[in-house]
Amino acid sequence: MADTAGRAFVCGHPIAHSRSPLIHGYWLRHYNIAGSYEAVDIAPEAFARFAATLGENGYAGGNVTIPHKEAAFAAVARRDAAADMIGAVNTLWLEEGVLVGGNTDALGFAANLDEHAAGWQQAGPAVILGAGGAARAVIHALKQRGFADIRVVNRTLARAAELADRFGAGITAHEPAVLPDLLADAGLLVNTTSLGMHGNEKLPADPTHLPDHAIVTDIVYVPLETPLLAAARRRGLKTVDGLGMLLHQAAPGFAKWFGVMPDVTPDLRALVIADMERRP
Ligand code: NAP
Repeated sequence: MADTAGRAFVCGHPIAHSRSPLIHGYWLRHYNIAGSYEAVDIAPEAFARFAATLGENGYAGGNVTIPHKEAAFAAVARRDAAADMIGAVNTLWLEEGVLVGGNTDALGFAANLDEHAAGWQQAGPAVILGAGGAARAVIHALKQRGFADIRVVNRTLARAAELADRFGAGITAHEPAVLPDLLADAGLLVNTTSLGMHGNEKLPADPTHLPDHAIVTDIVYVPLETPLLAAARRRGLKTVDGLGMLLHQAAPGFAKWFGVMPDVTPDLRALVIADMERRP
């Protein structure tokens, strides 16, 4: 557990949209912990100082979101292995006064599939749509779970090629035009592009090209059933939405700051879905 239990945050710019206070607030009440978790708007030029003075300001640590994940990577004294591989930090905590950074997105991605698609790691070749920050976390998770054939497909091929270089053996980069061939023998399809998000509800790939046993997951979770998941469901494929990734990635930080590894429960999921209905 971190040095100073009691106070944690999510920082970003802007930050009002974040659902992290809802999630951590639920766990604080559920486990009857007298702590707090607040959203803090930090402008990019103020981040380094904010990170350097966490302990002085009474924080045990917190979450970092857009646009600070790379700045947090640079600001910490030590990082966990996932943060090093992904190149970004989304969770901060203090260990004996030293600022440490981790990345929990890969854990969150894998835990969501563990919960909703048991045995997913045996699915066979994986196709990942997108080559941004979230794709890095997904590739890391897939490598950790033994995937040996990971096909990264991106509008900007050079970004996919960068990821193939970064993560090494078993990762290949492709243009969207070859998707039908890539999908024909794939066991797992993951959307990490922003296509499908509320206001941009487009199909990033056609799941009818997939074999019958394939699993389809989208890390976009607003709407909960994205156009990709709806098309995969109509095709009769197993689908997993992205909300579980958000919930599971939050748990390790809570454990660091408040000393309890929290459960992702149906109640918590329902609470966040109700919030999504109020403000998509
Ligand atoms: P990012 O770094 O900005 O990457 C965005 C990706 O989407 C890039 O590969 C980009 O392609 C692609 N893209 C954007 N617009 C496109 C279009 N019109 N056509 C085709 N491709 C397009 O973003 P990120 O941080 O990886 O996040 C991606 C999504 O994941 C966001 O919706 C985010 O909310 C979600 N997310 C969810 C969770 C969760 O817990 N469920 C966690 C993290 C992120 P180019 O390279 O060609 O620009």
